[in-house]
Amino acid sequence: CGIVGYIGYREAYPIVIKGLKRLEYRGYDSAGIMLFDGKELGISKTKGKVSDLEEKSKALASSKATIGMGHTRWATHGVPNDINSHPHVSNSGNLVIIHNGIIENYEPLKKELIKRGYTFTSDTDTEVLVNLIEDVKKKDNLKIGKAVQIALNQVVGAYAICVFDKEKPDEIVVARLGSPLAIGVGKDEFFVASDASPFIEYTSNAIYLEDEEMAIVRLNKPLKIRKIKDDSLVDPYVQELQM
Ligand code: GLU
Repeated sequence: CGIVGYIGYREAYPIVIKGLKRLEYRGYDSAGIMLFDGKELGISKTKGKVSDLEEKSKALASSKATIGMGHTRWATHGVPNDINSHPHVSNSGNLVIIHNGIIENYEPLKKELIKRGYTFTSDTDTEVLVNLIEDVKKKDNLKIGKAVQIALNQVVGAYAICVFDKEKPDEIVVARLGSPLAIGVGKDEFFVASDASPFIEYTSNAIYLEDEEMAIVRLNKPLKIRKIKDDSLVDPYVQELQM
């Protein structure tokens, strides 16, 4: 399973697709992509291989979108099919998530969200998490980064996630606990991935998130890394990769 994200000035589609191919060795049963071109979300996902995704997402291939994220899924909750593939979108249509890992307490969280009027289209634990983030965000009128942090503190399990909010289209929120996540720091661009292989050709500067850390990857802003639990700031440790 794998994660790729891009935010910068290049066309995101080829970066994401090529990145997903580099992560194929990790194993997976489905693949999906999200692009945002400043107006519309473009989402395509499918059971099968990254090559099947390319076939299915041809309409997105010419997109000029410079923000994107992609996912390969190794199903844990819900069979491998198109609907259970990632990305998953929140009920409002504004939040998009990709997730590797498991939300162990998704059942009680889902029950509570259903009581609060949320509906679900997939059988995944991941769709519960994106709607939990939305619920937290709406209740207290929070920014997406804060909402992700509060939601993650209610979650038991393991994750590497990327969350995109249409209302904050210059950033991607990332977090990890138990699943790897690397951030590639370029000039005026950022990459996110399960390992550095999707971005090594673009930048040799990588930050590996530690467990229980999150970051808001934002254009034209220095990267800030925080501890999910106590909100303390962590000094980003930038590693020089061997090209
Ligand atoms: N638990 C999630 C799902 O089944 C993510 C699986 C993964 O790590 O790819 O959809």
